[in-house]
Amino acid sequence: MYPRWARVEVDLGAVAHNVRTLKQLVPRQTLFMAVVKADGYGHGAERVARTAIAAGADRLGVATVEEAVRLREAGITAPLHLLSEPPSSSVDMLVEHDLIATVSRREFAVELARAASSAGTRARFHLKVDTGMNRIGVRAEEAAAFAASLKDFPGLTHEGTFTHFATADAVGDWDFANQMTRFENTIAEMRTEGVDPGVVHSANSPATILHPESHLGMVRCGIAVYGLHPSRETYDQVDLRPAMSVHARIALVKRIGMGEGVSYGLTWRAVAPTTIATLPLGYGDGLHRIVSNRMEVLVRGVRCPQVGRVTMDQVMIELPRDMGVSPGEEAVVVGKQGSETISMDEVAEHAETINYEMACAFGMRMERIYRG
Ligand SMILES: *Cc1c(COP(=O)(O)O)cnc(C)c1O
Repeated sequence: MYPRWARVEVDLGAVAHNVRTLKQLVPRQTLFMAVVKADGYGHGAERVARTAIAAGADRLGVATVEEAVRLREAGITAPLHLLSEPPSSSVDMLVEHDLIATVSRREFAVELARAASSAGTRARFHLKVDTGMNRIGVRAEEAAAFAASLKDFPGLTHEGTFTHFATADAVGDWDFANQMTRFENTIAEMRTEGVDPGVVHSANSPATILHPESHLGMVRCGIAVYGLHPSRETYDQVDLRPAMSVHARIALVKRIGMGEGVSYGLTWRAVAPTTIATLPLGYGDGLHRIVSNRMEVLVRGVRCPQVGRVTMDQVMIELPRDMGVSPGEEAVVVGKQGSETISMDEVAEHAETINYEMACAFGMRMERIYRG
């Protein structure tokens, strides 16, 4: 059936549902950006991008020039943002593919203006303001003057101004409120300096769901588009449907005796004769080794403990004694089977990380099957 007995399934109907649901949280005139960086958080950027646009997303966001060019080469024509400032050496590609750059350094702006002018066009940019995360962007106190200095640059169109929150997933957080205030003050200063800040935006998924005051001219949603919650705070706030599920077929079933061990280091040993099944996926497929002896997998709707160390390409599970399971039978690593569900959040917790990183990881090597 498939060349490999391990696969990721992506429910595009869920993606469409999530985009529509998130759009209902924001005012009609607020633009909606679907963030499809890191190959659509592991879901496949191109298919997610097409689905999101069809469901009402106005724009797309990616992290790297390469990600953007791949979408353009796939024929995607929607406005496409680079969410951070790329190397100056990429300016000609930005102009060629009509990408909307993030700007925070003068040297980059100069190069971008030069590239656009020499191509006989104008390049759109959004100015990134650092209001407290201290990752990328012009420091808030310098932003208005910087924006004013770019005002009459030939070849550049200042289309928007944005910031990014460090703590949007918390409720009633002082640092969030502080970033919001700093951003509002910066925008006001720009206007005083005679600069039109253009489309003003700040909200990622958690801010879109939890902080309506941050919606402004556009929201930028990533994780929630994929139906995953940015934090526990949002569980009860919005009806999201997870798009990704992870499946494997059992490759081998065997009985082992009491005292026998399983996998590298024999870190797990049978306390009684036991049935062990091997699944053909491992940390090379995103199943981080740290989940060894912690996670569970569904077989026939029953939770089966994973045993022994996760290896690069295989992982073992213990089957309840009387199941009569044989190779080829479906196991669910993330998703629903019968009345049981293993969520991305559950696996992420075993991996001591967040659902964002798990989804990206599952996107690494496994074939993706699209539904909906
Ligand atoms: C990744 C990213 C987002 C999306 O964040 P989510 O928490 O996944 O919604 C929004 N804005 C910027 C600048 C980003 O880098």
